Amino acid sequence: MLIARSVFRSTHPGGIYNSPRDPRDLYTPRFVKGQGRTKVGICPICIESPSRGGLGHKLWLSMKFSAFNYHVQFAHGVSAMTGRPFSPPVSYRTTNRCRPLKIERSEIIEGKCHVCKKWVPIQGIKDCEVKVKELFWWKHAATCHQGSQIPGDDDFYEQDDVFSRLEDLNL
Ligand SMILES: [Zn+2]
Ligand SMILES: [Zn+2]
Repeated sequence: MLIARSVFRSTHPGGIYNSPRDPRDLYTPRFVKGQGRTKVGICPICIESPSRGGLGHKLWLSMKFSAFNYHVQFAHGVSAMTGRPFSPPVSYRTTNRCRPLKIERSEIIEGKCHVCKKWVPIQGIKDCEVKVKELFWWKHAATCHQGSQIPGDDDFYEQDDVFSRLEDLNL
């Protein structure tokens, strides 16, 4: 990380360095503070610049009370087990719901899971806008996939400047 910090000329965010599983690990916080009950880590995605898909700010989250785990898995769709994005459904379909209530959807989109082969509702039954559209799928994936990815689902890194510099460093 010291190498990476000098290569990318980033400022130290505070806390102490925490090793990821590998440089492409999207889950593990690179910086942590405190211990045990007070241990917090910085979301490695939010801290990236907006041009790289982040928010450019330090979001410290509790490691002990699963705030960190919940945030990275269900705000970003990154698996705690693999450090990679959850694989998407292998296909989609729209199913009619019988006798929906007024505030409910009359049809619902389902995604097919590559692990359990089931059709999983990927929307809530209430007909309203949600903050994180993929939440239902990610919740299913977090419990069902157990680290499994669809074969070939591995092109989730932007081939940008940061990526090529990491490649050059052979990390
Ligand atoms: Zn985040
Ligand atoms: Zn499944």
